[in-house]
Amino acid sequence: MSTACPPVASKLPDVGVTVFSVMTRLAVEHGAINLAQGFPDFDCDPALVASVTAHMKQGNNQYAPMPGVLALREAIAAAVARAQGATYDPATEITITSGATEALFCAIAAFVNPGDEVVIVEPCYDSYVPVVRLNGGRPVFVTLRYPDYRIDWDDMRRAVSSRTRMVILNTPHNPSGQVLARADLDQLAAIVERTPALVLSDEVYEHIVFDGRAHCSVCAIPSLAARSCVVGSFGKTFHTTGWKVGYVAAPAPLAAEIQRIHQFVTFATHTPTQLAYAEALRARDPYRGVGAFYQRKRDLFLSLLRGSRFRPIPSQGTYFQLLDYSAITGERDHDFAMRLLRERLVASIPTSAFLYASDAPPVLRFCFAKKDDTLERAAERLRAV
Ligand code: PMP
Ligand code: GLN
Repeated sequence: MSTACPPVASKLPDVGVTVFSVMTRLAVEHGAINLAQGFPDFDCDPALVASVTAHMKQGNNQYAPMPGVLALREAIAAAVARAQGATYDPATEITITSGATEALFCAIAAFVNPGDEVVIVEPCYDSYVPVVRLNGGRPVFVTLRYPDYRIDWDDMRRAVSSRTRMVILNTPHNPSGQVLARADLDQLAAIVERTPALVLSDEVYEHIVFDGRAHCSVCAIPSLAARSCVVGSFGKTFHTTGWKVGYVAAPAPLAAEIQRIHQFVTFATHTPTQLAYAEALRARDPYRGVGAFYQRKRDLFLSLLRGSRFRPIPSQGTYFQLLDYSAITGERDHDFAMRLLRERLVASIPTSAFLYASDAPPVLRFCFAKKDDTLERAAERLRAV
């Protein structure tokens, strides 16, 4: 562009392009196997594609209602009631968003005011902190400590105060794969009980839990449900991360505030996709054993890594596996991830990308939402390190 652009002050001066975009770009440039950004390298159910296509051909191509297609909101409310025993009114308490990322953005923008403290469990998904800061909030971190990545509830008790506007949780947890138990959530309920804190619970991997565990949502505990926004995403469950449809379930007064923001972020989400998901959720087994499906992939990846110098940290859910590389090198995680990419042609994510207040341990994150053949080729390269 030849004419001069007026200077602007960045609202997020410390933020670059996300690590997921950077690693995927580098993986493509180097021709590396991409176990970095979390997305499947296999296709979704063709019946789901046929269903979206059919809705398009039937002329369902105009704006959806601002809070989402009612049939989908009803299907979500029914699924949450079945799984968690929580009751949400589909008319007023469920909002469909353009991905969980939009739901998180709207919930934070709706409730966090300048100067408010927001307690964030780190390592954390990369959108939370920038959005809190964009709204003038002050992150206060509770660190999941390597190697077991459990929440220390005494740390949480110390972090939460009358200044806390929101606590942001994520279970099953990206990147550690840890799953909170009901006893954990009881601890949280006791901690926030006499505070004005809301809870924003990112549960996008709710259906990807392993070894007989059940996902326990914050909404299963009535005192937490009353102050919580629960965020989900269909992208993870249906192998359709590119369709970007998520949702947030929250009590009516909170949902109304979220919708005030949502209507000016996207107004409404893609109509034919919502109609197709509504149909899929009405099926007898809507989640088609996605937990067992990914447990098999996790176990395959782990068995292929046997004999390598990487040490797996147990993953209880999500489609991520952390690998400790301290037996290989003393390099920092970012440096080692870059070397692994360039020299061994395997892309991963350094966990420092999810950390703000603490030093990164010698751990990289690998996504196993990949074809068996991809996992086999990647593991062969990792075994040679
Ligand atoms: N939260 C977590 C923990 C995630 O891993 C992701 C994955 N991208 C998201 C939110 C965002 O989900 P979506 O793609 O539906 O925006
Ligand atoms: N959630 C995905 C991950 O953790 C990536 C999402 C994104 O690229 N924004 O890898």
